[in-house]
Amino acid sequence: MTMIPDEKVREVRARATILEVVSEYVSLKKSGTNYLGLCPLHGEKTPSFSVNPVKEIFHCFGCGAGGDVFSFIMRMEALTFPESVKLLAKRVGVVIEELPPSAEAKRRATERETLKEILETAAHYFAAVLMKQKEGEPGRLYLERRSIGLEVAGFCRLGFAPDRWDSLTSHLEQKRLPLEAAEKLGLLRRRESGGFYDSFRNRLLFTITDPQGHCIGFGGRVIDDSLPKYLNSPESDLYHKSEVLYGLDLAKHSIREKGTVFLVEGYFDHIALYQAGVKNVVATCGTAVTASQVRLLKRHADKVFTLFDADNAGKKATFRAMEIFLEEGIPARVVLLPPGEDPDSFVRTCGVAAFDEKIGNSIPLFDYFFRDLCQQTDTGNVEGKVKVLEELAPRLLKMANLFEQDLYVKEISRFLGVEEKLLQARLGRTRVPFARAELKPVKDSKKSAVGPEEMLLLLMGKYPEVADKVREFGVENLFGEGCLSVAEDLLSHISTSNLIDWPRILDKVSSVGERDRLAALFVDDSHLEDIDARKAFDQCRQALERIALKGMKDLARALAVAEPGSESYRELLRKIESLRNRKSRLN
Ligand SMILES: [Zn+2]
Repeated sequence: MTMIPDEKVREVRARATILEVVSEYVSLKKSGTNYLGLCPLHGEKTPSFSVNPVKEIFHCFGCGAGGDVFSFIMRMEALTFPESVKLLAKRVGVVIEELPPSAEAKRRATERETLKEILETAAHYFAAVLMKQKEGEPGRLYLERRSIGLEVAGFCRLGFAPDRWDSLTSHLEQKRLPLEAAEKLGLLRRRESGGFYDSFRNRLLFTITDPQGHCIGFGGRVIDDSLPKYLNSPESDLYHKSEVLYGLDLAKHSIREKGTVFLVEGYFDHIALYQAGVKNVVATCGTAVTASQVRLLKRHADKVFTLFDADNAGKKATFRAMEIFLEEGIPARVVLLPPGEDPDSFVRTCGVAAFDEKIGNSIPLFDYFFRDLCQQTDTGNVEGKVKVLEELAPRLLKMANLFEQDLYVKEISRFLGVEEKLLQARLGRTRVPFARAELKPVKDSKKSAVGPEEMLLLLMGKYPEVADKVREFGVENLFGEGCLSVAEDLLSHISTSNLIDWPRILDKVSSVGERDRLAALFVDDSHLEDIDARKAFDQCRQALERIALKGMKDLARALAVAEPGSESYRELLRKIESLRNRKSRLN
């Protein structure tokens, strides 16, 4: 962790213009004062990604992302702020000498190192128990029953937690590692009487790693009938369930080599395939497939094979995953196993050759969905056909590949006996609302309720006379906590240089969501051309007054039921007082 001096950040930003940087990723076309293109941050077919070269900011009306050149690189390359500054500095030839890290940054880095050390120590300990120690015998027998060799178990970093309360606890103690930190990781639990005990007992352990192979958590399975069957590490600073694919560290080379990846559900499916020589395999391990996981796969693979259980739950999981594959634009096929089988049982009972045959017979996931839909619905009548079409339309629209979409439209029309152009028209009509709208409702920020404070910010940026008015009324009288610091920033930019450094203003906003929203607001203010700025200011002021009045009524109501003299009562009084002051100054 290092700190980058402020003036260096400014220097980089001055040289790395947003138009040039974004153009390296997207082709942009001029549209009014802005430039427009297909958003590189989410899959889309109609451009909603807007760059304002004057303000040096961007915003996507599809996925809602927005900010300056650094925010763009942060999202695009999945970097932290300092990392993105360094990357751009290199591109534009600014040399950054690094300051020593702050005490707080040092403390955080040390804490992370400790957590990593504890996890690695635990992983080695559990593996040693499974491989060599007498206490690991039940684990070895269990693996034997499931036909898993010790060699592959070692390779996949399997381990065993002995049937004791203090095995890992005393091991960590011996290594002089802080037990409180191990508790944070979910490895130990605190006794009411003081001290700690092991969370994982008498379980086979799967080491969950990051793509580089560092342990970030464990999945533990019982070896008898006790419950819960699986016990997983809780989320921690290092382990974020929705972003992890089990086995990616082992699989990534093979995935790159073959261009394909097998996605399975469970740890045992993973290890069974791995043992059978299918090395390009990763597992979701109990979570529904997420967009982050699919993006992770896309970095390595061109195509996904899903291999979920052949039951209803497996089918559901497969279809849910399909939605994400479609959106992320990665081709996916489904490998169908006989009913009642999972990849683990299938490979064990039928062998690798039979498995290869199943891969050969895999079908595109969308075909599978379509067939299943037609099986579940009577397509012999109009009602059934309409139902099927309504199910298919939104998913066809999600297809990133237009050729694929076109071919499916032809096939579906033929199959259901409807005219192709009707289906095309249906897609054309729904194109806009379905562009990701199902997953993330995004407001059309031009029309969405822009509050009076936000409107005032916009007006200040565009019309100097509004900024003067705001100064006259007192910025703190007009803006509440949410927008006040941005408004103050704007005013100081206007008064010092008459030039507003929009990226700097956005950078100061610490919440990503708020920054996105402000970028949406600022990126295009062409609709404020030719308005009467003074009148608009008055309208905002009146609206704020109404809001203040309503706020006062709400507070008075709350005050009526609050316990007089209590902390919340005093807090309410304070709020009423400040609102009253604000309001009186607005008149
Ligand atoms: Zn977007």
